[in-house]
Amino acid sequence: MNNILYNNGLYIHIPFCNKICPYCDFHKMVASDALKEKYINALIKEAKIKNISNLKFNTVYIGGGTPSSLANQLLRKLLFELSKMVNFKDLVEFTIEANPSDINEEFLQTLNEYNVSRLSIGIQTFNEHISNLINRHTSVFEFNRIINLLDKYHIDNYSIDLMYGFFNQTIEDIKKDLDIIFSTKVKHISIYSLILEDKTIFSKLVKEGKELSCDDETQSLMYHFIIDYLRKHNFIQYETSNFSLPGYESKHNLIYWNYMSYYSLGSGATSIINNKEEIMATKINDYITSLSNDQLPNSSIRILNLDEQIFDYVMMNLRKCEGINLDWFKQRFKNNLFDVLPKVNILLNQGLLINQVNYLFIPEKYFYVANSIIVKLLEEIII
Ligand code: SF4
Repeated sequence: MNNILYNNGLYIHIPFCNKICPYCDFHKMVASDALKEKYINALIKEAKIKNISNLKFNTVYIGGGTPSSLANQLLRKLLFELSKMVNFKDLVEFTIEANPSDINEEFLQTLNEYNVSRLSIGIQTFNEHISNLINRHTSVFEFNRIINLLDKYHIDNYSIDLMYGFFNQTIEDIKKDLDIIFSTKVKHISIYSLILEDKTIFSKLVKEGKELSCDDETQSLMYHFIIDYLRKHNFIQYETSNFSLPGYESKHNLIYWNYMSYYSLGSGATSIINNKEEIMATKINDYITSLSNDQLPNSSIRILNLDEQIFDYVMMNLRKCEGINLDWFKQRFKNNLFDVLPKVNILLNQGLLINQVNYLFIPEKYFYVANSIIVKLLEEIII
């Protein structure tokens, strides 16, 4: 993998969606045009009050929610105002998330105009049965329309999100989805298993007895099928759920996974800058009201202590397939990882971790249970 350690990403949160997906627990809502406009004005104000023009960013990521659900005029306003504070041309990567049905000529023209270099498209599946279940529909015809448009606007760096792990879904279904994606020049794929998060429509349905996800063993088989399929198509797995052609890894997301500094703007967004964590007000009305009075909204700010920093660092870095660079760990924490986390030797003996050429990582056959391995490693400093 590219060994450049990028720092200083800027994340911008757009908490609006055209409709709510039944599995989603993100910070999002369906809103009127008037509320969206007030929110964008507040975002621009936040950027100005925080003087982001004095900062140097390597990456910008506009996520949500669904940023493409903004009317084009409003998206242009946001990009225009931000372009006065951030030099988009100097970024190593500028990503925006989009819903397939929002991708049209006007939208892509706007992205070109403001040097947006990467598009992350939430497809999830083409399977009719699953599309009905999750209430998200993208036909193959629609997908081809989008790909032709991307070609026309010279956007070749795009990522596709897919989902797996549904009840009654088969490996053949997943293969069909992947075959469709691989009929294009896709450069990056993120694949997530269905997780039944609390307080979602799906978790309520499950409590009422509906079967929505397949069993763990089937999910694990699907996951390993996906890894094999993508490898055969020359895709490198660089994170537990993320795959790309060489050089097309998400540089912005690697800032999170390498546990480097990033700034965020928007309601509910988290920034971590030099071990200071700041979470902005999550209530959209509070966020808008404060900023319309030229005040920064309340945010929770805390300085992360050493244990918390190590916890987050290990948690994030072990999600990458290359794992933890032990020199970088030592440089950052002035300590050897083996001294700080004595459990590592037990996990090495059990084959759940590997220490090779200065990297500590989870072997591929255990990626599927990566979280439980990380929790075991961090047991002594669980915070
Ligand atoms: S999955 Fe994406 S589009 Fe669906 S509700 Fe969540 S943020 Fe919105």
